[in-house]
Amino acid sequence: MNQFMDTPLENVRVIGIYAHIDAGKTTTSEAILYYTGRIHRPGSVDAGNTQLDWMEQERMRGITITAAATTCYWHGCRINLIDTPGHIDFTAEVMRSIRVIDGAVIVMCGVGGVETQTETVWRYANQQNLPRLVFINKLDRESADFEGALAAAKRRLTPYAIPLQLPIGSGEQFTGVIDLLEQRALIWQEGREEPETQTVPASLAEQVAQVRGEVLDAICETDEELLSQRLDGRNPDLASIRIALRRATIAGRLVPVLCGSARQRIGIQPLLDAIAGYLPAPVDRPQVEGVLPGHGESTVRSASLSTPFCASAFKIVSDPHVGHLTWVRAFSGERNLSETVYNPRTGEEERLGRIYQIHANHRKGVERVKVGDVVALVGIKSAITGDTLCDPAHPILLEEFRFPQPVISVALSPSSDEERDRLHQCVTRLCEEDPTLQLIYDSETGEQVLSGMGELHLEIAVDRLRSEYGMIARPSPLQIAYRETVRRKAEALGNYRKQTGGHGHFALARLRVEPLPRGKGILFRCVASPLELPEQFVRAIELGAREALEKGVTAGYPTTDLQVTILGGKYHEVDSNSLDFKIAGSMAVRQAVRQAGGWLLEPVMLADIRVDEEALGSLLADFSRRRGMVSNLEVHGSERRVQGEVPLVEMRGYATILRDLTHGRGTFTLEFRRFEVVPEKLAERIIEQRQVQGKIAKR
Ligand code: GDP
Repeated sequence: MNQFMDTPLENVRVIGIYAHIDAGKTTTSEAILYYTGRIHRPGSVDAGNTQLDWMEQERMRGITITAAATTCYWHGCRINLIDTPGHIDFTAEVMRSIRVIDGAVIVMCGVGGVETQTETVWRYANQQNLPRLVFINKLDRESADFEGALAAAKRRLTPYAIPLQLPIGSGEQFTGVIDLLEQRALIWQEGREEPETQTVPASLAEQVAQVRGEVLDAICETDEELLSQRLDGRNPDLASIRIALRRATIAGRLVPVLCGSARQRIGIQPLLDAIAGYLPAPVDRPQVEGVLPGHGESTVRSASLSTPFCASAFKIVSDPHVGHLTWVRAFSGERNLSETVYNPRTGEEERLGRIYQIHANHRKGVERVKVGDVVALVGIKSAITGDTLCDPAHPILLEEFRFPQPVISVALSPSSDEERDRLHQCVTRLCEEDPTLQLIYDSETGEQVLSGMGELHLEIAVDRLRSEYGMIARPSPLQIAYRETVRRKAEALGNYRKQTGGHGHFALARLRVEPLPRGKGILFRCVASPLELPEQFVRAIELGAREALEKGVTAGYPTTDLQVTILGGKYHEVDSNSLDFKIAGSMAVRQAVRQAGGWLLEPVMLADIRVDEEALGSLLADFSRRRGMVSNLEVHGSERRVQGEVPLVEMRGYATILRDLTHGRGTFTLEFRRFEVVPEKLAERIIEQRQVQGKIAKR
C-alpha cells in the first residue's frame, strides 16, 4: 500500500484546472505532475506526448477532449487533479467537472488576458460558489502584460482578485516572481529546477511596497481582528495573514492571483503551495445536498469517513483494456472492494469489482473508495453521467446535472445497410458518455441524426466512431438543430376508435398545452381522476404525446419548453388498450400544438472575434448583416475585440469569411447562449424547405 494512502482529509484537495483554449492549461498540468514527482519528464503539447492527453484525437489535435483525473502529492497534501477540456464545444465536460471539485485554478494567458472560455468557466464556478486561484501564464512571451491581465481579471471576472506575486522581468527577461507576502524574490536560474531566493531588486522595491500594502489591506478587511491591528498601525504576523487569506479564498471573498510561465517552468512550485495553502479540503466545503429517493425530502452528507457513503459519477469511459469505467468523486463515507453501491436512478445495486486510482493512462488498483477520492470503478454497468452511487442502507439522490441542449446536427450514414444497427449502437454509446450529444433515430427512414454543441464536437464524435469502434460513418453537411415550441395555450381532444368485428379500439384523451420559459423542456402532469383514466392509460397518453413532440409538429424538429396537462378522457372496459391511448395522446397533442400555433426556435451564440483595427469596419458591417448584435468592443493595442450575439445559422462557413475580411489574421469563437424565436419570414422559408425535403407533409 502506498505510504500516502491515508492522507488526513484536511490535506486532500480535489481541483480542476480551467483555461481558454491555448492559454496553457495542459502545459501547467504537466508541470504540476512533473514537480509532484509523478512523471520524470514533462511532456510537450507541441510534440504530442503529454501524459494527460491520452486519447488519440487529443494527441493529434493538441487539445484535451475528455477529463482524465490524476492523483499527486505535494508537501503532505494529496491533490486529486481533474483534467478538463479547453474548447467551448465541450461544455458538458467542464460543467460536470465543476460539480465534483472543491476548488479551481483558472489559467489565463498573459497575452490574451480574459477570454470567452475564461468568462464561461468563471460563470459556472460562480454557480457552485467554487473557491478559485488565478494563474497568469506565458509571461515569457514578448507581448505578455501581467498588469493588463490582472486588470482585466478584476474588471471582467471579479473585483476581489488580489496579486500574491509580481513578475520579475518580462518576455525573454522573465526570470522569476516576487513573493509579496514574504517580500522576497524567487529566481529560476537557467537549467535549475528549484528557485533561488533573493532579496527584492531595488528597482522593484517601491512598486512591491505599494502593491503589498494594498494586498494586506484587502486580506485584513476580511478579518476583524487583523483589520483592527492594521488600523492601530500594528503589522499582523504572516501566519495570521495566511490563515485569513485561506478563509477568505474558501469563502469566495478573495481570489489570489499568481503568475509564471508553465513552459519555462517558472512559478509552478508557488502555484502548488497556493493550491495546498489556500484552496479548500473537502471538510472546508458546505455539506452536499440531495433528496431521499422517492420521497423528495432534502437531506445532506458531510465530508467525513463516518457518514454514509455517497459519490457522484462524473464520467463514463469505455477503456479498451478494462472495459466500462465509471469515474466518481466520493463526497462522504467509504466503500470497500466487493461491497455494493446503490444507484437511486435505476434502483439497482451493483458490486464494486475493482477500484482504480488513475494517473493518465496508468492505473493502480486500490482496496476502497473514500470521501475526497476521485477514482474509476469497474463493475458499475448501469450508471450514466450525473448519477449518484451511495450506501444501499442510506440512499441519497444528489442534485441532477442540467446540460445545455445541442445546437448543431449531422445525419450519419453507415458505409453499408448491414452496418446500420451497429452504427446506432455505437452512437448510442457515445451519447451515454457525453450528455451534450443527442441521437435522434427515425425508425421509419433509418435516418440517424446526431446533434452536439459545435462543429468540432461533432467532428470528434465521428472520429471516435472510427478510432474506437472501427465504424466509418459518413456525415451529411452540418444542419442547425432547430426546436419547436408553442405560442399560446390550447386544448384538444384525441379521439381514436375503430369498430372491427371482434375487439374494437376505443380511447379518448383530452389535454392542454401551454408555453414554458426557455430552457424548461417538456413538463407533464395529469389532473384527471384515476376513475376517469386509469394509471396505465395516463402513462400511454404521455408516451404517445412525448413521441409526437419529439418528432415535431410544425417543421419536424423536437418540441420543447411546454407544459402538457392531461385533463381527462374516456375508456371502454373491453375495447380499450394502452396502444389506443398512445395513439389518442399523439393525436391530441399534435392537434393542440397546431391550435396553439408553433414558433421555431434557433440557437443564438456568443461570438468573440479578434481582428486588426483596419478590418473592424467591414467586420462590423458584415456582423450586423448576419443579424449579429454587438455587446462589447475592446481595444488591445492594434487589435480589436468584438463580442456579440448572433444566430448560429448565420455563422456557417464564417472561418472562410473572416479569413477574407482580415487577410487571415482574424480569429473567432462561438459559444451557445440560448434558443430564440426565429423571425417569421425565415421560419416560413425553413418550413418550406422541410416540406421539399419530405421531413413534413405539405399542407
Ligand atoms: P491548453 O489548450 O490551455 O491546454 O494549452 P496548452 O498547454 O496546450 O498550450 C498551448 C500552447 O501554448 C502550446 O504551444 C504551449 O507550448 C504554449 N504554452 C503553454 N504555456 C506556455 C508558456 O508559459 N509560455 C509560452 N511561451 N508558451 C506556452
